[in-house]
Amino acid sequence: MAGGASQRNGAGHVATHAPKLVDVPVTLRPEIASLAPYRQGRPAAADAFKLSSNESPFPVLPEVSAAIAGSQLNRYPDGAATALRVRLAERAGVTVDEVHVGAGSVSILHQLVQAAASTGDEVLYAWRSFEAYPGIVTVSGATSVTVPNHADGTHDLDAMAAAVTERTRIVIVCSPNNPTSAIVTARDFEAFMAKVPDTILVILDEAYREFVTDAHAVEGMPLLARYPNLVVLRTFSKAYGLAGLRVGYAVGPAYILDAARATMIALSVTEPAQRAALAALDIEPQFTAQIDELVARRSLLRDGLIAQGWRLPEPQGNFVWLVTGEATAAAAELLERHGIVARVFALEGIRISVGEAESVEKVLAATAEVVETLREDVGIGGLG
Ligand SMILES: *Cc1c(COP(=O)(O)O)cnc(C)c1O
Repeated sequence: MAGGASQRNGAGHVATHAPKLVDVPVTLRPEIASLAPYRQGRPAAADAFKLSSNESPFPVLPEVSAAIAGSQLNRYPDGAATALRVRLAERAGVTVDEVHVGAGSVSILHQLVQAAASTGDEVLYAWRSFEAYPGIVTVSGATSVTVPNHADGTHDLDAMAAAVTERTRIVIVCSPNNPTSAIVTARDFEAFMAKVPDTILVILDEAYREFVTDAHAVEGMPLLARYPNLVVLRTFSKAYGLAGLRVGYAVGPAYILDAARATMIALSVTEPAQRAALAALDIEPQFTAQIDELVARRSLLRDGLIAQGWRLPEPQGNFVWLVTGEATAAAAELLERHGIVARVFALEGIRISVGEAESVEKVLAATAEVVETLREDVGIGGLG
């Protein structure tokens, strides 16, 4: 049905006519045909703050722009992203083969799941967690097994370890977790790894690791030498502000990353993306300053929210999580009236990115009104 097809093209596509092209539909994999499209953060009106995708609010730095501008766009990129991998390997203290670069860390997730799981296999992760996980697992043919987070938004790693079966091929751990912004502690992670067999791939998704200030948080890189089944995922999309270029990386055992590389679409990491990532690493202190700025704004937001009575997981990503339960839709509408576009999880909660300096006050004004008008309805646990 043409109408259905245009819906699957996502929010940006508007079909002007919908000709009926076929009467007899091609047979598709039913689980794929019924898969919801990736839900992107909503675009914001000109005067609103787009705080729905955890993007960096900072404009691209001139050194990075210059590197991008120097790309030879008539040439294919280096499919092995060699220069970038050499650089990342030096930083991580590993060999070049122990680094893999992908068109965003989401594509590496796809590759790892393709490489390790298929029909009849299970991929285990916490829920709620990153919205991309369920679709990636479905595409591989494997089955998702999810374990609810604790009430405070942290992973229930004991329950996750207990949910491992002989069919489990992969466990994904997200720290800080999207969307709750809660970390996994090093202690809990190590206890978890001790229970998970070495034959199961554990992916530690650290898309927001640069924003972590809690000294107890797990950090994947130093643990790689200890766990032969661990792969750590990092990205240039968040702290380095390169979401639009699509570049992320994995560090882990070479044979696992070789398998991921075998599944990848060749040459999908573009030359501008590779050059931009390298340029960003050249000017690391400037990003450290941006991260510090965002962490300071996050503290302002967190303190303001707590003063308003909100109970929220200790935010360690570049975003905060409000538990709004039944009142979620009404709360989101109030936020929007204040010019705040956030990520809304129906009947559950709202994730708000830490954005422009001026957005902090705006968010707090909006959440104050949410408290005022919806106090009775905001879900249990959301307000203290
Ligand atoms: C944003 C995000 C990513 C990064 O995605 P890219 O494909 O690198 O842009 C990965 N994991 C989580 C949990 C995220 O929120």
